[in-house]
Amino acid sequence: MKKLISILIPVYNEEGNIPSITKAVQEVFEDPIHDFEIIFVNDGSADKSLSIIKQVVATHSNIFYISFSRNFGKDNALLAGLKYAKGDAVITIDADLQHPPEMIHDMLQLWEEGNDVVYTYREDKNEHASNFNQFSSKMFYKVVNSLSDVEMEDGIADYRLLDKKVVNVLNNIHEDRPFFRGLVKWVGFQQKGIPYMPNARTTGVTKYSTKALTRLALQGITSFSVKPLNIAIYLGLTFAVLSILYIPYVVISLYKGYAISGWTSIIVTIAFFGGLQLMILGILGIYLGKLFMQSKQRPHFIIKESNLL
Ligand code: UDP
Ligand code: MG
Repeated sequence: MKKLISILIPVYNEEGNIPSITKAVQEVFEDPIHDFEIIFVNDGSADKSLSIIKQVVATHSNIFYISFSRNFGKDNALLAGLKYAKGDAVITIDADLQHPPEMIHDMLQLWEEGNDVVYTYREDKNEHASNFNQFSSKMFYKVVNSLSDVEMEDGIADYRLLDKKVVNVLNNIHEDRPFFRGLVKWVGFQQKGIPYMPNARTTGVTKYSTKALTRLALQGITSFSVKPLNIAIYLGLTFAVLSILYIPYVVISLYKGYAISGWTSIIVTIAFFGGLQLMILGILGIYLGKLFMQSKQRPHFIIKESNLL
């Protein structure tokens, strides 16, 4: 029996890309060793993406769609797709053709060789990204890796193959705002990474601003580790020790009768510790917020329509 491969494509305002990504995937499976299905997850697009997807769906029996009631973010779009994918393996790929579709062949090959996860990471020299973006992406993975308990390659992408057993595990993780890239590494199994060179975006614009990336970084760190919570303890200890050193100075000044000239140093100290305390409160707040969101147990996404239900 031929194995079924599910191709999972999150879509947010990609009207110009739907036909070309469909064609690209079909071309990959032209030589049919595997059966395939495509699942488009329309993540609340405001453009004509949904109607274009429906046109494609109408003329193919192996193309499906799920459409959200609003934008829930890419990770949730991926989760929805995983839930409904029927394949023996699922490949997630961006709609904008930045992930070279011909690499699916290599992924399938590695899967047949026994890998449960085949993920991709951006090759170092990326002519399509600005220096600033490359730098911030590097920093992002440095910070996430050092502060959290999973190791991620620099530039790891959401272009990957997941075996059915990994998909089942992921489907049973009910975490609010899942951080996919980290989760996939965290689950273990036999994983293999392959480098890729991203294509330029054909049409449309990137959905990730610097602000969104900062949020992603904070989420990446705080979903995988409580290390930031320890910052308060270490900083507190350091300053407690330093302040002990201050005692002899105070005592000697008192003994010698110096008037302690204080205003500037007091203001600086208050401002410094005020800032530090706010920062640490903020860190506590992030974790508290996560608990709050998690305790509400809201669904990850709301499906408005689909031909899979
Ligand atoms: N995407 C999505 N929901 C969002 C943002 C993005 O489903 O809220 C999809 C988008 O349509 C694309 C993929 O996620 O298929 C990657 O997005 P994008 O190309 O904007 O990210 P970049 O390649 O710039 O990291
Ligand atoms: Mg892109």
